[in-house]
Amino acid sequence: MMQTIVMNGEKATPSKIVCIGRNYVAHAQELGNAVPAEPVIFIKPNSAISPELKAGLDEEHHYEGELCFLVSEKQLKGVGFGLDITRRQTQQNLKEKGLPWERAKAFDGSAVFSEFITLDDITLGDIDVGQLGITLHINDQLKQQGDVSLMLFKPQHILESIQQFLTLEDDDIIMTGTPAGVGPIESGDTFTGAVHYGGETVLKVQWQAS
Ligand code: ZN
Repeated sequence: MMQTIVMNGEKATPSKIVCIGRNYVAHAQELGNAVPAEPVIFIKPNSAISPELKAGLDEEHHYEGELCFLVSEKQLKGVGFGLDITRRQTQQNLKEKGLPWERAKAFDGSAVFSEFITLDDITLGDIDVGQLGITLHINDQLKQQGDVSLMLFKPQHILESIQQFLTLEDDDIIMTGTPAGVGPIESGDTFTGAVHYGGETVLKVQWQAS
């Protein structure tokens, strides 16, 4: 069964999620990574999507709060908040060996999303995407904060870069990378993600980690 997300109150089925790594300098530095010259791109399959946020059983799962876009007709259409859940130790082991990241990034439950919305019923092409940002609070403590001005690669550049080699279907999702402040998910924690536009909160979502 294909996993779904919600866009403007209706179910949508992304065929894939395209993720950007190391898109904020401070986060690249906290993991000891070099700042890339081109976007670092990886993919999560539809099966990675889950409505539930889970702490790792066998290994710590890290949260990465990210500004996300839903694609329609090859353009950025909806905006949402997403968690790119990562098995950090596994990722570290794979990186050291130069191996692909799927075991660390593409497992079931590794992509958790808020509802997606359009802003003021207009396409994102008409708004100032530079005004978009996210915050992530855990148990009411601010853990992550980022906005487009801090991104190495801006959303439109990311969209074009992806489409140079990969077809984006309607309802595919782009995760634009995480700001600094990643850490482990603890069972019982309350996660509150928000999308801001021009200083105002336009979307808020809450999960309790199990
Ligand atoms: Zn990420």
